[in-house]
Amino acid sequence: MPLNASGPRLILKRLRQVMASPQSAQERLDDIVQVIATNMVAEVCSVYLVRAGDLLELFSTVGLNQASVHKTSLRVGEGLIGEIAARGVPLNLSDAQSHPNFAYRPETGEEIYHSLMGVPILRSGRVVGVLAVQNETQRHYIDEEVEALETVAMVLAELVGSGELIDSHEVHEGTFAQGIPPQLDGLTFADGIAIGHVVLHEPRLEVTQLLSDDEELETSRLDEAIDSLRMSIDNLIESPAMGVEGEHLEVLETYRMFAHDRGWVRRIREAIETGLTAEAAVQRVQVANRTRMARISDAYLRERLADLDDLSHRLIRHLMGRESNNSVVLPDDAIIVARNLGPAEMMDYDRDKIRGVVLAEGSPSSHMVIVAKALGVPVIGHVASIVGIVDPGDRIIIDGHEGEVYLLPTSDVVQAYEERVKAQELLEQSYADHRELPAVTKDGIEISLNMNAGLLVDMDNLGRTGADGVGLFRTELPFMVSETFPRLTAQKELYEGVLNAANGKEVVFRTLDIGSDKVVPFIDLPKEENPAMGWRAIRLSLDRPALLRYQLRALIQASGGQSLNIMFPMIADVTEFLRAKEIFDREILRHERLNYEMPSEIRLGTMLEVPALAWQLETLLPHVDFVSVGSNDLMQFLFASDRSNTLLSGRYDILSPAALSFFKMIIDTCDAVGKPLSVCGEAASSPLEAFSLIALGMRSLSMAPSAIGPVKEMVRSLNLAQATEYVESLLHSPDHSLRTKLEGYARDHGIEI
Ligand code: PEP
Ligand code: MG
Repeated sequence: MPLNASGPRLILKRLRQVMASPQSAQERLDDIVQVIATNMVAEVCSVYLVRAGDLLELFSTVGLNQASVHKTSLRVGEGLIGEIAARGVPLNLSDAQSHPNFAYRPETGEEIYHSLMGVPILRSGRVVGVLAVQNETQRHYIDEEVEALETVAMVLAELVGSGELIDSHEVHEGTFAQGIPPQLDGLTFADGIAIGHVVLHEPRLEVTQLLSDDEELETSRLDEAIDSLRMSIDNLIESPAMGVEGEHLEVLETYRMFAHDRGWVRRIREAIETGLTAEAAVQRVQVANRTRMARISDAYLRERLADLDDLSHRLIRHLMGRESNNSVVLPDDAIIVARNLGPAEMMDYDRDKIRGVVLAEGSPSSHMVIVAKALGVPVIGHVASIVGIVDPGDRIIIDGHEGEVYLLPTSDVVQAYEERVKAQELLEQSYADHRELPAVTKDGIEISLNMNAGLLVDMDNLGRTGADGVGLFRTELPFMVSETFPRLTAQKELYEGVLNAANGKEVVFRTLDIGSDKVVPFIDLPKEENPAMGWRAIRLSLDRPALLRYQLRALIQASGGQSLNIMFPMIADVTEFLRAKEIFDREILRHERLNYEMPSEIRLGTMLEVPALAWQLETLLPHVDFVSVGSNDLMQFLFASDRSNTLLSGRYDILSPAALSFFKMIIDTCDAVGKPLSVCGEAASSPLEAFSLIALGMRSLSMAPSAIGPVKEMVRSLNLAQATEYVESLLHSPDHSLRTKLEGYARDHGIEI
């Protein structure tokens, strides 16, 4: 006799009573199994839970032999129960024994049962067990019964998640439903290997209140939450920060479409009618969507599934009255998982505890990645599905060499990676051992290798890497982590600290580069359509000269008796440099007038990040002491390609004839008048890019500290005269990128890249 329409409601009512009773988790589980068997008129009802590794252990049963509880187990993939776990989808069979995967366990006494219906017990798309009913006759279970069993499986998932039945560490081991591979491909944004535990940047909220007997209340809660969800999406789409077109808007429009989807809302209402709370109903419908869509291989539809996941999480947040929740306690080996992350958000985390970052989106030359590199934290981006399938606390490995992420890795994978981490440490040790060796090519050309920094703690890397100095100190980073505007004395103390730590090595301070994605809490930046090309860096400083004046004053005061190197960001023409220099000159005069100790030497330079400046170099060079190319911004403007836009990352290559010819023009112009030139963008951090630039005549590079060792090794293996001839010969090639050719050359000539 199939379940009637009030069946699910009745089962949930009983479950509510069971869950509220003061019993042990095992007793509750036994009662739940009994309730299902009675109400679904099944002779057998059993629950199998995934234990460490990939075993499904029989945890409770009505109908099968009681002596087999906690004794019988199947491997994931073995038998029908194992198949449900492996595929993560329900099985509904009127003649189970004729199924090719039927596995007979004599100790359970199940040989007399012919029909079987089983559903996976899922937590965040992960199979943590299987719930099954069996009957002696060849019974056909109807769809409503499958759905009722899935709803019960949700309640069971919460019971499993409570950690009372199985230690929560074991639950985190779990197994994945089919279609969600535990090994995910992405792109390496910052190299390195890390083993750790997931911290969700915007964690999903745990729905703990699943059952309710006040349908009216839950429905009105749902209506309210849907309204506020729709409103928040409308606001987001209409906010000026979103601009007027772009893929992000299409994504949001899809969200809006889903949020207004009547079918979706109706299904949630129906789930409430069965006795669930509004948030549990949202979750229930999402599990059903996942089950239905898990079989779809179309990439576009799969992405929509991720959108729906996201929307459901948002709706649950609205229901629980929490827009976001970043107050998580970090484990010591945190791997942050986020859709995307800004540089300030990255710096909000305790740097001692972050081992790595995995992003669903992101871009390799974004400021967040620069911050991560400065912290020595590997970052993998473009792992589209990551946010929807991990749980906080999951074990995870990120492999920056291969651009791969392993979720819930098996112990042999963990072991293999522990070996690789050890090998990496040994390699780093060998770089550290070579830190005193000079960076000189085989044919005797000396290259100055400097490091980029932004916080006082970064300065420790100077000694560790043997860098010649700091070629770029990004002064905005301390501003980004400060709640209020850093006062003159605080700034002065910071710069003094940096110079002390440099211990006589040169440090090039870049004045504030605020704006674009570098937001500071105490300046209200206007909403702009193109913030990267907007009111930022020197433009902002010249419009708000007090900001620049105080910073220059602090720098001058901090460097009494020592040499002072300052450069200005985003200079687009000669007059901007001259105006900035004028402010500096006035500050120096003031300093002198007050009889303070003067810097022993002063060098004022400029960043070259805006292509227009390259055609004014001859006019500019007599006024500056040095030029430093910011390849990150320069490339984004040269190719008109937003450095933070996920869709464009990798579209243009700095190792292209256009970019390298542009570099050559800059190098030749500076060389002609003997003006010191260096490059401090990310291009300097990769041995192959550094090789190409050196071949074109660059003699000074500033890079992430972790790059000093590998780049020095490359320099020491290089025969420069020969390489210059080769790289120059490629500049007129029609290729989109010269990367493959340059790699081939390096390989053939024993250059360590
Ligand atoms: C650059 O643009 O290359 C640069 C070094 O500046 P930032 O990355 O801080 O914008
Ligand atoms: Mg820049």
